[in-house]
Amino acid sequence: MAGKDQGASFNTSEISPPRIINLDNGDPTMFEAYWRKMDEKCSLVISGIQFLSYFSDTKDVCWYLEPKLEDEIKRLHRVVGNASVEDYYVVVGTGSTQLLQAALYALCPSDGSNPVNVVSAVPYYSCYPDLTDFLRSGLYEWKGDARTYDEGGPYIEFVTSPNNPDGSIREAIVKNGQGKLVHDLAYYWPQYTPITSCLGYDIMLFTLSKCTGHAGTRIGWALVKDKDVAKKMTEFNTISTIGVSKESQIRAAKILGLVSDSCLNPVPDNFFKHGKALMAERWEKLRKVVGQSGLFSLPQYPKGHCLFTGEFSTEAHPAFAWIKCNKEDIVDCEKFLRGFQILTRTGKRFGCDAKYVRISLVGKEEEFELFLEKLLAIQEDF
Ligand code: PMP
Repeated sequence: MAGKDQGASFNTSEISPPRIINLDNGDPTMFEAYWRKMDEKCSLVISGIQFLSYFSDTKDVCWYLEPKLEDEIKRLHRVVGNASVEDYYVVVGTGSTQLLQAALYALCPSDGSNPVNVVSAVPYYSCYPDLTDFLRSGLYEWKGDARTYDEGGPYIEFVTSPNNPDGSIREAIVKNGQGKLVHDLAYYWPQYTPITSCLGYDIMLFTLSKCTGHAGTRIGWALVKDKDVAKKMTEFNTISTIGVSKESQIRAAKILGLVSDSCLNPVPDNFFKHGKALMAERWEKLRKVVGQSGLFSLPQYPKGHCLFTGEFSTEAHPAFAWIKCNKEDIVDCEKFLRGFQILTRTGKRFGCDAKYVRISLVGKEEEFELFLEKLLAIQEDF
């Protein structure tokens, strides 16, 4: 009975530790309500006889690319108007993470004696240095900030637009005449930013994870102008993984097809309108909370004419909040927020100051609301 008594006096709310909120990674689970609603339309049956072969279309430069996926990728870009697909080769990868590496491989001369320098403007996506130097390749080497880079010779610049972590719209920085560019356009979709023009760069990378939220399907694609570059990128994916899962490809095709169809239907089923409304709501709430005190600040974004929605004055609603801590004696914002059980990614990982942190805004609703509550409480204490 003693045990029972103990149980009766056991008040969990008094002793349970404060909940940790992990806003470090950008796991895009915020669109789950939309996909739950679309559940049946997206279901797919794959029979035992399907996909025994490594090959898809041996006549295609990307020989393992499922034709249906190529069609749906091109259709979606035509519907959204964010990137040109006419006369482009499509190379598919296991996420755009694989394609970033494939692009590095493809853009380096195979007979070069020195590694090619790889740069990106600070604050840059934190995975660029990791994936460039991970295998200590003799072909290429991470050289950091594109703004301070002043060496001659060949280089590769990653141009991320909208940028991860700070949401800014970017163009190439280095101009020594010997550079190759990789445009990482993971966030160039209407839920995050106005689509102000149809881009036509040499190599443009996109990913299902940030477009539709299906990060787990691990599908990314590159639109590549030059046939030889597309062939070399395909060669990289051939050597590293002998292609990309066909199950993932046909699932991605199905999802992209549904998104394109949804754009042709009235609201509320239009995926991008739904996503944009969600992102706008989160940004409005966040700006309201941050505006309560001068402890933190957020970037401002110019409004733009979105060719997709037709709206003349559309705000950007980036996937991440790039927050600066303005209090002088708080030099490490990540550590400061960790003290309140809020996990973020330090500005240092993006080549920047520890006064900055990146906070994911694409996670679950419940987590986002809890974050706002905590942020409000922190500010009230200061
Ligand atoms: N580029 C950028 C700018 C990203 O933010 C991400 C995901 N965080 C990626 C590429 C890689 O995406 P994935 O491998 O999921 O396709």
